[in-house]
Amino acid sequence: MNHLFTLPTPCYVVDEGLIEKNLIILRGIMERTGARILLAQKAFSMYDLYPLIGEYLCGATASGLHEARLCAEEMAAPLALRGKSCENHIFSPAYREEDFREILKYSDHIVFNSWTQVKKFGERAKAAGKSIGLRVNPECSTQEGHAIYDPCAPGSRLGVTKKSFLRETELLPLLDGLHFHTLCEQDSDDLERTLDAVEEKFGEYLPGMKWINFGGGHHITREGYDIPRLERCIGKMQEKYGLTVYLEPGEAVALNAGFLVTEVLELQETDIMTGIAILDTSAACHMPDVLEMPYRPPLRDSGLPGEKAYTYRLGGPTCLAGDVIGDYSFDHPLTEGDRLVFEDMAIYSMVKNNTFNGMPLPAVVLREKNGACRILRQFGYEDFRQRLGSSRP
Ligand SMILES: *Cc1c(COP(=O)(O)O)cnc(C)c1O
Repeated sequence: MNHLFTLPTPCYVVDEGLIEKNLIILRGIMERTGARILLAQKAFSMYDLYPLIGEYLCGATASGLHEARLCAEEMAAPLALRGKSCENHIFSPAYREEDFREILKYSDHIVFNSWTQVKKFGERAKAAGKSIGLRVNPECSTQEGHAIYDPCAPGSRLGVTKKSFLRETELLPLLDGLHFHTLCEQDSDDLERTLDAVEEKFGEYLPGMKWINFGGGHHITREGYDIPRLERCIGKMQEKYGLTVYLEPGEAVALNAGFLVTEVLELQETDIMTGIAILDTSAACHMPDVLEMPYRPPLRDSGLPGEKAYTYRLGGPTCLAGDVIGDYSFDHPLTEGDRLVFEDMAIYSMVKNNTFNGMPLPAVVLREKNGACRILRQFGYEDFRQRLGSSRP
């Protein structure tokens, strides 16, 4: 990875070979079970890799019109030229009237979040030949400590509970499928528990459906994930109810397949450890999940605080006191100009970054399978300016 030392910083480097490694695992599940796996674009939308992703998966899912269009133009269109099909699914808590016509142009599977939305848009979608689903909330929380990522938490706006579901069963004939999404970075034992809750609450309606969508949050490509149990879950829904099973992972597609390369701008003394390093990247701007989730991103050649001889607090150059990525230790003291490589930075990074403090956005780099690094995009002042006001030149 020596080119990492000549690339502009900060930059996201996505490794095509590592993406493909994940895709091979996902394709294996599809081949063994007949399930259909889609990319959840909200986690990873680096569309230069969409033709590759579409070669392995069945398509993509969108959170709204823009992602649906990105799938249509960057995944479905190039695949069509090769005679390959590509499914374009969409789910949103509420659709905008003015977007819906265009959504009908791009999406083939439309998932609604409430019976009110089904009433508002369902007939139109049906008339346009779309497959229609309703997101249900099985009210089965399987994650501790991450309420922000738990669609089953009390008061959730995501998905129809059994109680609301039963109020409008006369609309059932409009539905082709049910959708649930309740997991986040979880293993298949939690999926199994969730499926039991789905069956308990909505099981009697499943025989009338064509498909069921297990949502995302399946950490399938993580070392140690129990794939055979996932495949048993898929098989059960196929055999018991005759359903097509969809999975729409985001993370699992690009897990551990990207890096954020940054440079040390400045070193400060501190009483509590070796020092503080100010980097040219920011947690708040370039890896917001570090603060939001929160989590400690892996950093190449580093250890936990105190594990190696020199411990530094790594922070960004913004005004935010809490713009700290974490405390890391190294075998050697850091010096100005050193490059650091944060790992697992392909997912929920590029898609969530921002220019708070006028921070430049990291360049986007593709590391091709032959090892060559290609800079796909660099950002400058205009990219910062154009989001903030008039189009005056
Ligand atoms: C976030 C989300 C996904 C993808 O989740 P990952 O955790 O990235 O796998 C899939 N479906 C829906 C509805 C989502 O909201």
